[in-house]
Amino acid sequence: MNLQLEGLAAAVTGGSEGVGRAIAEVLAREGCDVALAARRRDVLEDAAHDIAQASGRRILPIQADLSRADDARIFVATAARSLGRLDILVNNAGGPGAHRFDGASDEIWQADLDVKLFGAIRCSRVALPYLRHAGGSIVNITSTGGREPSQASVPTSVTRAAGIALTKAMSKEYADAGIRVNTVMLGSIRSAQWERRWEATGRQGTLEDFYDRAGVGIPLGRIGRPEEVGDLVAFLVSSRAAYITGAAIAIDGGQSNAI
Ligand code: NAD
Repeated sequence: MNLQLEGLAAAVTGGSEGVGRAIAEVLAREGCDVALAARRRDVLEDAAHDIAQASGRRILPIQADLSRADDARIFVATAARSLGRLDILVNNAGGPGAHRFDGASDEIWQADLDVKLFGAIRCSRVALPYLRHAGGSIVNITSTGGREPSQASVPTSVTRAAGIALTKAMSKEYADAGIRVNTVMLGSIRSAQWERRWEATGRQGTLEDFYDRAGVGIPLGRIGRPEEVGDLVAFLVSSRAAYITGAAIAIDGGQSNAI
């Protein structure tokens, strides 16, 4: 399927590692120039260099802490100005944030909301005028936990529920401007986040063993690969998904129970 993404420009938050990096790789492979935001300059620049080498596209690393209002604003504005246009925004930056309710302080709640929810709100706000011009689209990366919160899952499950609602509300508001807004709800996907979890176990067994154990109980028998998320996002932002907006699509190997 030709996604017809050639020549478009995308901004991906949290694009230096894991799922965000894979999304950037797929978009670049499909012909997009891509701006990436993350906090650590070295990791970000390495990712941008590797993706540019592999795709031949322009990949722009912009150091930014998406939990800060100014950084979010400057990231999107710089991306659009430097790439000359902006067609696609992927709000992906985030990390784990699951605690028992009685272990979650105000600071923990605020930090989770700042990067995952306000990061998406602020980046979207700055991107909308460019997207309106281009008939572009936004994909918010959230989690199946936002729809099916489990025990000891705050604040992230609540932040994700807000992200799913934000997606639906914005999709209604911007449809007439030709801007589509969707969310991809992740189950368990291989990433740097999971590697850090393995390291925290004292590297018991190999990383592959760790991933195998994480896949037990998932109907498709394994956890997901980041490039599988990249493929779904690339489809959603493409004109082949022109009639899809306000959708919340789970990519979780069949794990969640919600219909
Ligand atoms: P990861 O840790 O491998 O990558 C996260 C990326 O976000 C990195 O590039 C990191 O630099 C960036 N980031 C984090 N906080 C940031 C901030 N304040 N400012 C700028 N960049 C920041 O994690 P991942 O697994 O690839 O996760 C990607 C997204 O998917 C996250 O929002 C995560 O919560 C969500 N998610 C992942 C899974 C999973 O199983 N991997 C499941 C559910 C949701």
